[in-house]
Amino acid sequence: MLSEFELISRFFTRAPRSGGALRLGVGDDCALLAAPAAEILAVSTDMLVEGRHFFAGAEPEALGHKALAVNLSDLAAMGARPLGFSLALALPAANEDWLEKFSRGLFALADLHQMDLIGGDTTRGPLNLCITIFGSVPESAALRRTGAKAGDEIWVSGTLGDARLALEALQGKLTLTAYQLSIAAQRLHRPTPRIALGLALRGIASAAIDVSDGLLGDLGHVLDASGTGAVIQADALPLGAALRTQSKTMQNEFALNGGDDYELCFTAPVHQHAAVLAAGLTADVALTCIGHIRAEAGLHITDASGQPLAISSHSFDHFARP
Ligand code: ADP
Ligand code: MG
Repeated sequence: MLSEFELISRFFTRAPRSGGALRLGVGDDCALLAAPAAEILAVSTDMLVEGRHFFAGAEPEALGHKALAVNLSDLAAMGARPLGFSLALALPAANEDWLEKFSRGLFALADLHQMDLIGGDTTRGPLNLCITIFGSVPESAALRRTGAKAGDEIWVSGTLGDARLALEALQGKLTLTAYQLSIAAQRLHRPTPRIALGLALRGIASAAIDVSDGLLGDLGHVLDASGTGAVIQADALPLGAALRTQSKTMQNEFALNGGDDYELCFTAPVHQHAAVLAAGLTADVALTCIGHIRAEAGLHITDASGQPLAISSHSFDHFARP
């Protein structure tokens, strides 16, 4: 059986990449990290708990990817550039096969974003993965939730509702073809954080958030923070091919309230419309305008003819009463 320090050294210790932000990595009491001159730090923590965020026995390589991806998604939503991350890990046992695959998934995504694992903590316990991520952004360029203004357009990246579709298929609540399931499951297990888009939206978007708990709930946070309301056109919601084969009710419910999308939802003034589309091209991701911000509070959803649709927001809340 591996000791704690063998485990850390074998699976989680690599030399800092040259030219990166990390001056001193795993092995001392603290890591030493340099923020670029004239930028401030963007810091976020996200935890994944077995049985809560993923099924027991989940594929470890995908878990390594997802644990980091959900944190990168928060940096993306702030318009921040990744610098490094720390990993707090509780493991029931030092299973070498599991650790090998988990660290492979983790470092593959870290390498894609040229960032180092800077340190962490390792204990025995029920499987729990907690990452704190560090990024940087020029202070005036950070994409806060507070900046949405009446008249701004509301945009989302990629497609919505695929992760929820996969989850319900895996739970046996609906049936997909093997091909549809393989694509939707990829979206659930290996989400793509929209880092390049966040960077491209600096100076263009007025507010941004990543869609982790469902569009209505997450957009609701932007509206609350900005003191505004919004109108969303349900027919404008970008859907993947598999979800488009389901009922209209399911399409709306999964796209508006399904969680785990990790797309960006952002607002931008109308005069930035062409600049937003250009940012989508730069970041190589489809962007769809789904509605606009209003001065009056409240979130209204309309169909193609402008008639109101009654869909309530019930995005995920860990402590909601049943
Ligand atoms: P301390 O007792 O000083 O907190 P630890 O014994 O917990 O240090 O950890 C030793 C070193 O290994 C530290 O540099 C810590 O950041 C790093 N470390 C521990 N667990 C992990 C992990 N899962 N991934 C990366 N680095 C880790
Ligand atoms: Mg420690």
